[in-house]
Amino acid sequence: MNSINQSGWKPEMGNVGDTAPATYTGNKALMLEEALIFEIGTAGTTGVDLADAPQIAARLGNLERHRDIGLPGLSEPETVRHYTRLSRQNYAIDLGFFPLGSCTMKHNPRLNEKVARMAGFADVHPLQPVETVQGALGVIHELAHWLVTLTGMKAVAMSPKAGAHGELCGILAIRAALTARGDARSVILCPESAHGTNPATAAFAGYAVENIPATSEGRVDLAALKARLGPDVAGVMITNPNTCGLFERDMRAISDAVHAAGGYVYCDGANFNAIVGRVRPGDLGVDAMHINLHKTFSTPHGGGGPGSGPVVLSEALAPYAPLPFVDKNGDHYRLVEEETAGEHHGSSFGRMVAFHGQMGMFTRALSYIMSHGADGLRQVAEDAVLNANYILRSLEDVLEAPFAHSGPCMHEALFSDNGLAEGFSTLDIAKGLIDEGYHPMTVYFPLVVHGAMLVEPTETESKATLDQFIGALGRVAERAKAGDPSLKSAPHYAPRRRLDETQAARKPVLVWREPEQAVAAE
Ligand SMILES: *Cc1c(COP(=O)(O)O)cnc(C)c1O
Repeated sequence: MNSINQSGWKPEMGNVGDTAPATYTGNKALMLEEALIFEIGTAGTTGVDLADAPQIAARLGNLERHRDIGLPGLSEPETVRHYTRLSRQNYAIDLGFFPLGSCTMKHNPRLNEKVARMAGFADVHPLQPVETVQGALGVIHELAHWLVTLTGMKAVAMSPKAGAHGELCGILAIRAALTARGDARSVILCPESAHGTNPATAAFAGYAVENIPATSEGRVDLAALKARLGPDVAGVMITNPNTCGLFERDMRAISDAVHAAGGYVYCDGANFNAIVGRVRPGDLGVDAMHINLHKTFSTPHGGGGPGSGPVVLSEALAPYAPLPFVDKNGDHYRLVEEETAGEHHGSSFGRMVAFHGQMGMFTRALSYIMSHGADGLRQVAEDAVLNANYILRSLEDVLEAPFAHSGPCMHEALFSDNGLAEGFSTLDIAKGLIDEGYHPMTVYFPLVVHGAMLVEPTETESKATLDQFIGALGRVAERAKAGDPSLKSAPHYAPRRRLDETQAARKPVLVWREPEQAVAAE
């Protein structure tokens, strides 16, 4: 540890600006360094004084812990500073434009936060008697009503806690429907542009996953899909709008063909932001679709909060929806927690979670929906699409836009790294954008495009913000095309220089151990 000082800064990390003198602390004015918590914490330091624990008889047998596990000890101010300093090295939607494609990083209106923090919502417990949580059940019921209305579907399962969790819910409902008719099928088809969660979900549920190719336009190849359908295909998982930022115009024909072959249509609805109020997936023949409340309906995500992925279901799949669900009887809300013969959920496939889902997200999403109204939601989609097309058309002469000829994009603009100088790639552009003060766009996804750059501006950004971003991305792209060597070592102004991503992902340092201890443990 001798080359690391108290702050964790090492001389080779460099200081901003080559001419500036290195500081003693490694700090750069307001840019404060911070070491790992294991490096600054000391055993025995604590923020609270606790009485000695009472002696109790050992009950764990050989599971009992005999040596100190080395948890770091910090005082309260040290703890607060540690996490506050780390948070300042992070990027957030509240700091700046966050063009991460497929993620819909839109502004989270503060009104939603205010509503979610009201004691009547924030302090309820899932085990409270139903009579005492009528308002909370009302929120779930009303949000459910909006979701089925906006999508033109029959029912909704509110409890899944993320988009991927919703996918699993939909696939389990499809399997339950097939099982009910005694038709075991083994294959799920996914387009090659699918989000990684789609094939992962199908595989997790025990299905074999097969790819459907894309056309040169970036859409599902309908002929290839039809050719593959058969009695072994349980269903398809199709993202619409798709991850190339394009609307699947053949969706109705796709659904009809899948249904005619006895399968079901799962739609990945993570991109619903682009079509809310304009298109009802139910009209396109979709049987199940998750909605990312944390994307379309502005509830925080990433480091900001948990996700929520309700799944809307068609008439064919509604009977298999998971429990529990909220039912309204006159003015009274009740919870249907068990399968009851004769109930319309008599054939539920089971449960996705212990309780009801993400109550805080339901409250925020309903607040967002009601403050926008139906017309406002439609404008959300229109503005999101307008902003993305503005970026696509402003940059298509600077960066290759492989599907620009397919017509307008939906909510995201897709570029490739073709045409950059020898040895330069999408990664260099992403790193250059960090120096410009932006979180990079989604890179290397979707896989159907070489060195993909997927930019999703969302509707909450002003024209001035978009213009500045277009200027910055355009400038960085020009540097990559001209082969500017300084771009290869970007970022220059971030708290850390270019890191080895592979190493960080493959060999993360999750626990700090003194080298001697590490040796002793091995
Ligand atoms: C975000 C996203 C998902 C997964 O949603 P999570 O909430 O992150 O699990 C799935 N598909 C697409 C297209 C997405 O953009």
